[in-house]
Amino acid sequence: MIAAVFNGPNEMEVREVEIPEVGPGEVLVEVGANTVCGTDVRILRGEKTTGIHPPSILGHEFAGRVAAVGEEVGGFEVSSTVAASPIIPCRRCFYCKRDMENVCLNWKAMGYEVDGGLSQYVRVPADAVEAGCLFGTREDVPPEQLALTEPLSCCVHGQRLSRVGLDDTILVMGAGPIGLFHLQLALLAGVGKVIVSEPSEERRGFARDLGAHVAVDPTSEDLSEVVAEETGGLGADVVLICIGIPGLLNEAFELARKGGRINVFAGLANEGWAEVAANLIHYNQLEVTGVTGARRSDYEVALGLIESGRVDVSNMVTHRFPLKDAAEAIETSAGGEGIKVAVMP
Ligand SMILES: [Zn+2]
Ligand SMILES: [Zn+2]
Repeated sequence: MIAAVFNGPNEMEVREVEIPEVGPGEVLVEVGANTVCGTDVRILRGEKTTGIHPPSILGHEFAGRVAAVGEEVGGFEVSSTVAASPIIPCRRCFYCKRDMENVCLNWKAMGYEVDGGLSQYVRVPADAVEAGCLFGTREDVPPEQLALTEPLSCCVHGQRLSRVGLDDTILVMGAGPIGLFHLQLALLAGVGKVIVSEPSEERRGFARDLGAHVAVDPTSEDLSEVVAEETGGLGADVVLICIGIPGLLNEAFELARKGGRINVFAGLANEGWAEVAANLIHYNQLEVTGVTGARRSDYEVALGLIESGRVDVSNMVTHRFPLKDAAEAIETSAGGEGIKVAVMP
């Protein structure tokens, strides 16, 4: 088979590798699609190194068909469709026991420590299968849509932590794939209003089509004025930062109402250093949360939302590349053109 092997910063090589053999408890998946994430960009550029041990195969957003099932595996038939929640929790550590398996002390994940989806086949390890990280899915949903379950699951996690709910006014900063997922989830949760802030006209168009009440270009309009207008001068109940610009943190603090919730969803550039008016947190009683990855329970919810069509992902993948052009796919995703890039082995 061929796979995109990451050999170190800026070195990705598509080459012939052995098809993994399935041992007891393992499942071999023929990848139908692997969508590219901002984290892949940061890994390829050498900006993120934790958990990466080159040479390895990246890709943590994938779905496909079962190609082989190891001994002692129940519940999976060859050629049935599956999608995988990439984090493999140990289920024993302090965090796993407290519903924070995404920051498991023995953290490992497919596409990081374990070879991922930028490959024709992925071996899903026995501990992942046993933990229920591999999900059987509906047969009639295309793999590129099923692959989006992973980023959507992280958004489900973020919304749960920020308690997005009935009649809230939500400000989504950044309308890339993540911002557009948050927009849709917020509407499903029954919020009163979603304001989206996004410089790209194309992406604002997507946001409007998906139901954003207001889509603002922060480079030509005064976002704080719009938020004030839309909230009777109070500020947003929840601000979701979906773009990795550290300077936005302070802006988010100012745009939230007193007692508002801010979720730092995006991983930030420059190691995340930002100067913030911390007194805003103090005097305005702000609640600031972060989120990284998702739990199996978030993944399960996200999968149901995609399978049922309640979250519309049909137009999310705008660029498709064959596996041999995986590095180009990652660079395209970095360019911010379109919405989501998929690699189709
Ligand atoms: Zn990701
Ligand atoms: Zn653990």
